[in-house]
Amino acid sequence: MRFSKSFIPTLKEVPSDAVIQSHILMLRAGMIRMVSAGIYSFLPLGYKVIKKICGIIRREMDAIGGQEFHLPALNPREIWEETKRVEAFGDTMFHIKNRDYILAPTHEEIMTFHAKNVLKSYKDLPQIWYQIQTKFRNEPRPRSGVIRGRQFLMKDAYSFDSTWGNLDHSYKLHDKAYRKIFDGCSLNYFIVGASSGAMGGTGSEEFMVKSDAGEDTVAHCTHCGYAANVEVAESKSEAKKRDNESSRLNEIYTPSVKSIDELCTFLKIDESQCAKSRIYIFNNEPVLILMLGNDEVNESKLIKVLGGNVRPGRPDELKDLTGADAGSIGPVGFKDKIIADLRLKDANNMYSGANKNDYHFGGIDFLRDVKNIEYYDLRIVQPGEQCIVCGNKLEVFTAIELGHIFKLGTKYSEALGANYLDENGEAHPIIMGSYGIGVERILACYIEQHHDENGIVWENILAPFKVHLIALNMRKEEVEAASEKIYNDLSSAGVEVLFDDRLDAQAGFKFNDADLLGMPLQVIVGEKKLKENKVEIKVRKTGKREDVKLDEIIEKVKSFFS
Ligand code: ATP
Ligand code: MG
Repeated sequence: MRFSKSFIPTLKEVPSDAVIQSHILMLRAGMIRMVSAGIYSFLPLGYKVIKKICGIIRREMDAIGGQEFHLPALNPREIWEETKRVEAFGDTMFHIKNRDYILAPTHEEIMTFHAKNVLKSYKDLPQIWYQIQTKFRNEPRPRSGVIRGRQFLMKDAYSFDSTWGNLDHSYKLHDKAYRKIFDGCSLNYFIVGASSGAMGGTGSEEFMVKSDAGEDTVAHCTHCGYAANVEVAESKSEAKKRDNESSRLNEIYTPSVKSIDELCTFLKIDESQCAKSRIYIFNNEPVLILMLGNDEVNESKLIKVLGGNVRPGRPDELKDLTGADAGSIGPVGFKDKIIADLRLKDANNMYSGANKNDYHFGGIDFLRDVKNIEYYDLRIVQPGEQCIVCGNKLEVFTAIELGHIFKLGTKYSEALGANYLDENGEAHPIIMGSYGIGVERILACYIEQHHDENGIVWENILAPFKVHLIALNMRKEEVEAASEKIYNDLSSAGVEVLFDDRLDAQAGFKFNDADLLGMPLQVIVGEKKLKENKVEIKVRKTGKREDVKLDEIIEKVKSFFS
């Protein structure tokens, strides 16, 4: 393609609204433009890469027997009411003025609708159906460019099986395909066990890339590879050991002491002797949560234990329930449900709030002084703690989710009545899986991982063009003739070339654009080298330059890419 005839509006300056490198470089390279918050247009160069990514996804999905659909983005609201997901998505779903319709944030409902109508017998199963389609989510904080958009492309796939064992098989096929897709896109990623969130289901894993721009926090062990979203991550954290003897319960005057640290300083004790209290409201009922020392409550774990609909208690509620403010609340005398983190199991000689402002209790024995505590793993894993699998140190960092595979089970087939008949003519709900990949996220994460201070660095596979052919001065006849010939010869040889044939652009400007756009190989045609019948090639990734004879250039380029 000729640069002079292409729409590639590169920018020299860093756009002010962009913070992360992928966003900055996609704007500067003329791949995308923002229309409004979280809504982007892909310009031809950007869209070219999107199509390549989709090609890789299609190849791997077809290889596991996936069949491609194209479902409507405009959905009847009614079917979403049946699965109760209008409520589950809440404000994240785009509602349109005509209340009968919504813009689909995902497609479990519509795929299950089709499954219900056509997959009637065990003989019709298994099936893997997928599509690459636009999704709409009214993300409250669209950010990081296309990484969190309000409209984005998702590859979503759904498996339909007759047994749980077959679901495991379909899940494994997707796991394999996902690895091939992300490897195929040269991404450095890792896989984490995840919580299934609003989707429901029995097992799920996320494919993640490490990034400061990520909104997920992950615990990872570089030693054994254990990785989990902190929502579910566990570590080997030592429990508080029960002392042989329990001292007696005693009330202590602790003026203005609110935090665990203040309590430790005031009483000259260690935080491992303190139980921190938090009150949550679950379905309108208060629950007291006890954590050891400064351990924080992991709300995802709490939601899993209690079963949803949980929120922290408000200050006025705390006062009504306990007679004290946050900082002075404790388990002794608390009338409602109490649950505690496993580290506190059967602890004694503990300090905690006395449910009276400015007072704490010492000598609390959880077996003697507090009735019916239930114990669960409720804590947020911290960096440096021991890996639950191998005991080595855990890292905790932010990451971006590229893709997600779920064992959905029968949540959607039951809600929508998608049943199949087994060998004996008995009806059962179809067992489903759902598998998503963010197409734009692949592109953005690729750029996050493949760039330098001058611009993008494309590897072969996703590069919009393989060769960036730079004619240094197109007004010189010999430069024009030689570069036109190289352009034609390379194009005829099937090599995708971006030909910078702009008449009046300065050499420095062309070099900067070539580095910014980042095609793997640059071929530079200039007057000086032509005098020796040579052109220069530069490898974008390494910066390595070499002079090549004019009549050897096609072979040289071909061998570079072979
Ligand atoms: P996140 O936790 O990042 O919000 P999600 O868990 O809501 O993502 P899924 O419903 O699992 O996402 O969707 C499948 C894939 O779609 C994700 O793995 C991600 O790559 C992509 N995706 C989700 N939301 C967005 C978005 N707002 N913009 C771009 N891609 C998205
Ligand atoms: Mg997800």
